[in-house]
Parts: sequence; structure tokens; C-alpha cells
Amino acid sequence: MTSGPSRYHITQDGKKLVTLIPGDGTGPEIIEAVRRIIEASGARIAWEERLAGAKVFQMGHPSGVLPETIESVKKTRVVLKGPLETPVGFGEKSANVTLRKLFETFANVRPVRELPGVPTPYSGRGVDLVVVRENLEDLYAAIEYMDTPGAAEAVKLITRKGCEKVVRLAFELALAEGRKSVACATKSNILKLTEGTLKRTFEEVAKEYEDIESWHIIVDNCAHQLVKKPEQFDVIVTTNMNGDILSDLTSALVGGLGFAPSANLGNDFAIFEAVHGSAPKYAGKNVINPTAVLLSATMMLRYLDEFESASLIENALAKTLEDGIATRDVVGDEKAASTSEFADAVIANLGEEASSWKARGYRALKVPRVSERPDFVRASSVKTIGVDVFIESAQDVDAIGRRLEEIAEGTGLKLWMISSRGTQVFPPAGATLDVVDLWQCRFKGSQDGESEVSDAAIFALLGKIAEEYKWVRTQKLLEIDGEPGYTKAQGED
Ligand code: NAP
Repeated sequence: MTSGPSRYHITQDGKKLVTLIPGDGTGPEIIEAVRRIIEASGARIAWEERLAGAKVFQMGHPSGVLPETIESVKKTRVVLKGPLETPVGFGEKSANVTLRKLFETFANVRPVRELPGVPTPYSGRGVDLVVVRENLEDLYAAIEYMDTPGAAEAVKLITRKGCEKVVRLAFELALAEGRKSVACATKSNILKLTEGTLKRTFEEVAKEYEDIESWHIIVDNCAHQLVKKPEQFDVIVTTNMNGDILSDLTSALVGGLGFAPSANLGNDFAIFEAVHGSAPKYAGKNVINPTAVLLSATMMLRYLDEFESASLIENALAKTLEDGIATRDVVGDEKAASTSEFADAVIANLGEEASSWKARGYRALKVPRVSERPDFVRASSVKTIGVDVFIESAQDVDAIGRRLEEIAEGTGLKLWMISSRGTQVFPPAGATLDVVDLWQCRFKGSQDGESEVSDAAIFALLGKIAEEYKWVRTQKLLEIDGEPGYTKAQGED
């Protein structure tokens, strides 16, 4: 477990050093407002300002992050950042994603809590929940391929280790914030292996946290329940893609993107930022709402064990909003405070409390450290029982099927079935499909479909297929501890 000073850098005069990235668009004006509030709160923070985002892309760095920024983060291990623009198009990666991945921040924590003076359709219902989203894996590993000119594919990569880290963090967060329950939202009913890994990990780890209520919910129902009865949720842990969508939904429950903070947490690094982007149309106008970054900063202060300053700022913020002082996104253009006026009002209210809202009590969050072994999961038996060969062909599937049966003869493997986009089409299983030119051709051992097949047999088969068909990729079919390590196609026996 990492906690206390080992997770941050202390300067010679006893301050906690933070890498500050002002960011793009409205980022610099928001960061300036937040920095003034933090300094006025008396928090013992020192800044090291560094560059990332649009300017860095323009300087020709395709990662969007300067080497000196990376060096600073390695030293401070804590970042407060404004939003960074992602160039649209092919080539450059998002600088935000680069930072999250470079520093293995495996969990994205997104709290939302109703605030006074911010009217929403849910006002008065006490919405107060946290979405904990896995932050590095899933479709966001962004491993994509064009299989044929007309068929694109993304790999949904989910590991037991990644799941265990984020699930443990969700339970630890519940303990640190005095919350009562953790729900796990997955699509494991359809994606039994990938999303199912999170569900199974959650159910195992939950046994260690007996005092916290835990339950699983299918993610689509979770979205439905969040709109219908959000107050039933406390902490929700979920996969990366699900969490991306659910957390934007939850931000709308409390007033929208202007009020949605986040923390990217890892064992050794933490990056605090708003959920929103750079809102470029408001850049330089001094009208943007700094609350989401301010609340990200109070999460950071607690991470740095500056609990008192964090509560002081949150209570001043609530008092300011309760008094009706707010930016244009809350009160409209006529009555709006500018970004800097809003920051001045929060500073003037330091030491004050709202009548209807209090900062909650927190304990230090322990970020769980699971084993660093790459072979985190070790099986007692792993057997290759076949191979899927994906081929590109515009031929009729019956013709492909009959020919592949002939081709496989003598290789030790036989054609088991062919699917089009996950539905069996050969031998015919009754499906009426509008097929495309990508076929998943499943081969298993020619004896019984359960025996081990050798790499030599697979290579021989692939060599023969390649003489007649354009193969795109292959995937071994594994049996791990007696369980199939692959899913059946729709209609497959
Ligand atoms: P955006 O910057 O979040 O802005 C979308 C809209 O949300 C704004 O036009 C505004 O709505 C509202 N909004 C956002 N932040 C607000 C705030 N602090 N106060 C009040 N209203 C706020 O989304 P985008 O326009 O799609 O993205 C712009 C750029 O930001 C892109 O380059 C994108 O890649 C990047 N981005 C960065 C991050 C990050 O750094 N983590 C995250 C998301 C996007 P109204 O127009 O209704 O006033």
C-alpha cells in the first residue's frame, strides 16, 4: 500500500511539490483561478509549471508531452492539469492518454455530489456518488486493425491484474470516504471473458471487505438506474469504456461538466484534472466555470494529506454557490460572475460554511499495490485445442467451407465452423445474414475437437490456407484449467 510522504515530493521548505500543467483553451485561466484559491487556503503546496498539449504538438512532439514535463512528473509524482486538446485525425495520440499511460494511473475516480445553488432536475435528492473507472485497458488500449478494406476491429483487452487493482481501489475509496456500498457495472452477460473478468474479480475481492455492501449490475441497467434513482449508488466500479459513458452521465446529474472533477490514480503517480475539455470557444473570455478543476484540486489536496485545506475550500465553494454567486453556465450571462470574480468570492468565503452542505470527512486513501509479477495469473494447465483463422474472401461461404474442409485434410486439424461477425454460417445454422468479406474459420483437432494440437499442425494448415486465401490473422483456441478460453459463435455447438 502506498500512503503518506512516500507518494509525493517535499521541498526543502516543507511544501508538497506538484507539477502544474495549465493546458489549452480555457485551461490557463481556470488553472490560474484554482491556484489562487489553493494558495489562499494556506495549503503547503509548491508548483513546478510544465507544458503539454497543443503547443507541444506544434513543436513537433507527437506524444503532446515535453520530456521536461515527464521529468517533472517523475520527480513530483503528482500533477494538477488543465484540459489538453487532442488533434483530430490520424497520427497523434491524445496527450491526456499519453500521461495516464506513461505513469500507469490505473484508476480514474470521478465523484459527483449535489451542490447548493446549482439547480438540476435532481436537486434535493442528495446525489452523492463516485464512478471508479479502469483507466488503461479495454478498448482504450486502442489496439485497432483494418482486417479488410471494409472491416475494422478493436481489441478489448482486459486483464485480471488490471481488474484487481481497480476493484481494490474502489473498496479502499469507499473505506476512506466512509461510504457504504460498491456496485460493479459490467456487460458480462454478453462479454463473458472480458467484462466477466471484472465481475469475477469483484466478487472475489468483495469477500475481503465484509463491512461494505457489494453487488453486480449489468451496465445498461446501471445507466437506467442512474437516471431513475441515482441516490441508490455510492461507489460504482466499472471497465474503461463503460466508465467513460457512465461518468459523463453522472456529471449531468449534478449540473454538468463544469462540476465534474476526476483523479487518475496509480501506485506511484496521481494526475488530477476536470472531466471536461478545453472549451475553446470560451478561451480568454474569463467566463468559464473553474469548479470542476477546483474539486479535482481538493481531491489532490487530500491525496497530499492536506485534509484541512481541502475541506476549507469545499465549504467556501458551497457557501459561494449557495449565495447565488456562480458562472454563466449556472446562472446565465446576465447574473454571471466571471471566472476570476468567482475565484475571488471563494477566497473571501474561506472559513465560511454553507447552511445546507458540508464537506465530508475523509481518511487517507490507501492505493492498493497488487503483485508486480507479469504472470499474475498462473494456470495449472493450458492446452491449445484449435485455431481461428480469419480470412478475407468475397466467395460464397459454402464454397469457402467445402474448400477449407479439403485443405485441412491431413493436417491434424479439421474445419469446425465458419462465422460471419460472430454468427455461425457454415455448416449452415439457420442464420440469414448480410455477410461481409471477413470470415472467422475455426479449426480444431481432427480426432475429437478436444485433443491438444501442435504448433506444427497449425503452421501446416496456415501454409495450405495461404496458398488459396488471403488470411488476416490467427488466434489460438486455449483450454485453461479445463475451461474454454474462447467464446462460441452464435449457433455453434
Ligand atoms: P469540452 O471542452 O468539454 O466542451 C464542451 C462544452 O461543455 C462547452 O462548449 C461548454 O458547453 C461545456 N463546458 C465544458 N467545460 C466547462 C466549464 N468548465 N464550465 C462550463 N461549461 C463547460 O468538450 P469538446 O469541445 O468536445 O473538447 C474540446 C477539446 O478538449 C478537444 O480538443 C478535446 O480533445 C479536449 N478534451 C480534453 C480533455 C482532457 O484534457 N481531459 C477531456 C475532454 C476533451 P456550452 O457550449 O453549452 O457552454
